[in-house]
Amino acid sequence: QCAAVCPTGAIVVRDDTAKLWQDISDKDAKVVVQIAPAVRVGIGKEFGLAEGENVMGRIVAALKRMGVDEVFDTSTGADLTVLEEAGEFLAKLQKGEKLPLFTSCCPAWVQFAENNYPELMANISTCRSPMQMFASVLKEHYRHSNRRTVVVAVMPCTAKKFEGARDEFMENGVRNVDYVITTQELVKMIREAGIVFSEVEPESVDMPFGAVSGAGVIFGVTGGVTEAVIRRLADDKSVSALRALAFTGVRGLHGVKEASIEYAGREVRIAIVSGLKNADNLIRQIKSGEKHYDFIEVMACPGGCIAGAGQPVTNEEGRKRRSAGLYDADRMSSIKRSEENPVIMALYSGLLKGKVHKLLHVEYRRKA
Ligand code: SF4
Repeated sequence: QCAAVCPTGAIVVRDDTAKLWQDISDKDAKVVVQIAPAVRVGIGKEFGLAEGENVMGRIVAALKRMGVDEVFDTSTGADLTVLEEAGEFLAKLQKGEKLPLFTSCCPAWVQFAENNYPELMANISTCRSPMQMFASVLKEHYRHSNRRTVVVAVMPCTAKKFEGARDEFMENGVRNVDYVITTQELVKMIREAGIVFSEVEPESVDMPFGAVSGAGVIFGVTGGVTEAVIRRLADDKSVSALRALAFTGVRGLHGVKEASIEYAGREVRIAIVSGLKNADNLIRQIKSGEKHYDFIEVMACPGGCIAGAGQPVTNEEGRKRRSAGLYDADRMSSIKRSEENPVIMALYSGLLKGKVHKLLHVEYRRKA
C-alpha cells in the first residue's frame, strides 16, 4: 500500500487500489462504484482521446471488465443534494433565519472553514456531499444483500478520501464509502487490467439508479451547484428560462462570480467562489460588511472539480474543454432538473421515507 501527500495539506492519504483489487476478486463481496461528474471529462486524454470528451460510457464498460458488479453515477447523489439544499435554503429564507447559506459539497472547503472560520459552521449547509448522500443510499439499498457491500467512489481529488474517512460518515464503525479512488488511480487500474480504453464500447450505468439530470452532471464545474439549485427554485420552468439562467453570471471559470435572482418578490444575492484564497477574501469582505449574500457556493479548486488535484493535470484550455464537456452533457440530457429525475422521486417515496435526515444530512462535529 503506498501513500501520497494530500495537496490540501490536510492529511497523508492512502492509495486503496490494491485493497479494491482484492475485493473485486472476492466472490463474497459485491463491489458497487459511483463516478463523480468531473471524472468523465478528465480521464479521456490519458488514453489518447480528446481533452474534455465525455467518456462516462467507456468508464462504466472498463469498470465492468475489471470485474466490478455495479456502476452508478454520482450525479444521482447530486440530484438529491440539489433538492435537499434548495429545501434548506428556502426554509431559512422563509423563516428569516441567518444567511448566507454556504454549500457543503467540497470537503476541502468544509475543512478550511472548520480550521479558520469555525463560527461559520452554522451557516454551512447540513447536506452531505453528493458522494456521501449516494453512498448512504447505496449502503441502505444493499443492506439485506447476502454479500458484503463495498461502496467505491471515483473522485477528482484526494480531499474526498479525507471526507470518506470522517467519523460523521461511519455507521457502526463501517464507512459509508469504503474506498475513494482518484481519477489518476483509476487510470492506473485500467492500465493494470490491460484494457485498451479507447477501444472499449461504451455502456450505460446500472439500474435502479440509471437516470440522472443535467443539473446533477454540471456539479463538476464552478457555478454548477448554484445553477442546479436555481433551476429548482425558478418559477418559470420553460426551456427559454433555463437558457437565460446560463447568462445570469453563474457560468465561466472566474474565481469569483456574482448573480442575483428574483424569488418570491425578493432579490436573492448569490456568490460563487472557487479557490480557497478567493473564499478567504470573500469571507473577510462579508465580515467587514462590504458584501452581503444569501447563498454562497465554495469550491476549493480553481474552476471546480474539473481541475481537482486527483485529476490528470491540465491547463487553462483543458479546464475550458472539461467545463464545456459537462455543459454539453447537460444540453444533451432529456432531464434538466433534479426534481424531474424519476429515480429521485422513487427514492423519496421509498427507501428515504423517514430516513432523509439520517441518510442525507450531517452535523459536522468540529463546530465553534
Ligand atoms: Fe475536491 Fe476540488 Fe472538487 Fe473540492 S473543488 S470536491 S477539493 S475536486
